[in-house]
Amino acid sequence: MLKIKKRNDYERIILAMLRENGPMTKYDLADKMNISIPTVTSNVNRLVKDGLIQEIGVADAEYGRKPILFDINYDQYFSIGLDIQEHSIYYGLMNLKLEMIQEGRMLHTKEGLCEDIKKIVQNILEHYNLRHENIIGIGISYPGFVEEEKLLLKKGPNINISNLSLENLTEELAMDIYVGNEARLAAFAESIIGVSKEYMNSIYISIKEGIGAGIILDKRYYSGSTELAGEIGHIVVKKDGKLCNCGNRGCIEAYISINSLIDSFNAISDRKVNNLDELFEIYDVNISEQRQVIKEYLEYLTVLINNAFLIFDPDCVIIGGKMSEYQDKIEGFLKEIMASYTCAMLKADRKIEFSVLGYKASKYGAALLAIEKLMKLT
Ligand SMILES: [Zn+2]
Repeated sequence: MLKIKKRNDYERIILAMLRENGPMTKYDLADKMNISIPTVTSNVNRLVKDGLIQEIGVADAEYGRKPILFDINYDQYFSIGLDIQEHSIYYGLMNLKLEMIQEGRMLHTKEGLCEDIKKIVQNILEHYNLRHENIIGIGISYPGFVEEEKLLLKKGPNINISNLSLENLTEELAMDIYVGNEARLAAFAESIIGVSKEYMNSIYISIKEGIGAGIILDKRYYSGSTELAGEIGHIVVKKDGKLCNCGNRGCIEAYISINSLIDSFNAISDRKVNNLDELFEIYDVNISEQRQVIKEYLEYLTVLINNAFLIFDPDCVIIGGKMSEYQDKIEGFLKEIMASYTCAMLKADRKIEFSVLGYKASKYGAALLAIEKLMKLT
């Protein structure tokens, strides 16, 4: 069975210390962790035995024997992050320094998703001459409802894959597998290695074909009682309003998804656009109809952002997903609209950030999900 089991808290902290500080002696570890030398020794011995850390030399000492330096065995263990989208799987191999060392994309066949995942994993193993034991886990990001414990991709309104269990893959690949919702994983990645790493509480709003949110509270992502937390795209902002993909009317997703913006823009523009790149290429603030479309869009987005501040009082709200790539086009206007929104309970200096990991955020989050079982990341 799998060699890398869930580690105890001391072991996870030792790995985190070594990642953050570089090589350390047992005395450094005991000192920093405020625990006894025998406790450090027994945990270090287990990590050495399992090949996760190794002796790499000795530290300088004024008297007596020079203490041994330990470091993570960075060449031995990796995680794989997969982000499943409508037509493609984005994949990446991450090392224990939390760096992606290989990234790519493969088209998938929907019916054969599990086979496609196996193919990607096999290719990565061959390319790097790795064995199954070198992979500490595979994290899988899915744009919809997941049941994390059951490894079930349950329902994705904007993707044609649902009710797919990945439980068999664990045995077939002989690797640990973890699944998560794409917005949650993107939020998690931003909070560990991205724009919100200095913040304890943040809300990440993913703006793509659908709208979702990742809620980070005390550096942990919050899934809710039934793993539906963050489905903010279906907050109703207009009674009997526009029809939404979920079947209901007036959901905010029907007003701030990428497609809804493109539709609104095409309704007033002579030149029709197919995507956000084309839209922002011809967008001219001096054409009042065009400016009005963007203004209305950002007004709805402001409603959502303000609601997020009022419900969670986070350190920041992050604009993520495809829309984050157009920060230079919308940030100034968005902040102007936010400033005009008067409510005594909203802080004037509420912080808006834009994703720095961009479309890769969910894949990074998926890879980090596997590493987090091994090493304390927050
Ligand atoms: Zn809806």
